[in-house]
Amino acid sequence: MILLALDLDNTLIHSYKKAEGSHICVEEGNIHGIWKKLSYMTPEAVEKLNGLSSGILPIPITTRSVEQFRRISIFGDEPPMAVTSNGGTLLINGVPDKAWRAESEQLINTAISELERGKNLLETDKNRSFEVRFVDDSFIFTKSDKPDETVSLLGSQLDAQTVDILTNGSKVYILPKGLNKGNALERLKKRLSPETTIAAGDSEFDIPMLLSADIALVPDNGLNAALSDIPAMVCENAETGKFAEFILDFAENYFQKYRKNP
Ligand SMILES: [Mg+2]
Repeated sequence: MILLALDLDNTLIHSYKKAEGSHICVEEGNIHGIWKKLSYMTPEAVEKLNGLSSGILPIPITTRSVEQFRRISIFGDEPPMAVTSNGGTLLINGVPDKAWRAESEQLINTAISELERGKNLLETDKNRSFEVRFVDDSFIFTKSDKPDETVSLLGSQLDAQTVDILTNGSKVYILPKGLNKGNALERLKKRLSPETTIAAGDSEFDIPMLLSADIALVPDNGLNAALSDIPAMVCENAETGKFAEFILDFAENYFQKYRKNP
């Protein structure tokens, strides 16, 4: 079996802000009281995802909360497995797995005092533009008008051995060091014993996961520079939605070759 570990946002799916006319809506939700279409895939990517050989097991690994993940309607009703909350939760047929959560809690508890200190720092940060959340009891999240300033405030106060501080646009995250997508992929590999692991992602959050895979797939945004030790395949066609098609084509072609010559 080939495990295909998939980041979601800007990897398998893309925002309505970038969607084109023929793209298929895969996420709708109530945002501040307004029902909105939120994420899309190209029709080609939807077809390729639905047509993957059964020897390929696609597993989303996302920083989205369980609630945000549940808004997405791909993989039929539910994917058989999905990891949310940056590794905090494993959903099996939509149900959180208790043993996985217990392991996650050990990783989170190691960092709990730093997470609490970070939460307090953010509560009083003058640049903060959103409430401070402890997402799925896994990591701290907020937004900042000046994310660089907020990050340097956190960086000067928090122990870098215990927590990671990451940003993505205006979003600011404080994450337990051990709770990352790479650790999540390692835990999945232990459970599932795949012959090969292919991982695809587009951002700093994905680096540990890409480094844990046998083959990493990245868009043409410079992320491959952080992956020098492993074979990274770069999708040169940066057009919206095309990275998803590249990933699904790669996985299927790899599987077909592997089946002939394991
Ligand atoms: Mg992403």
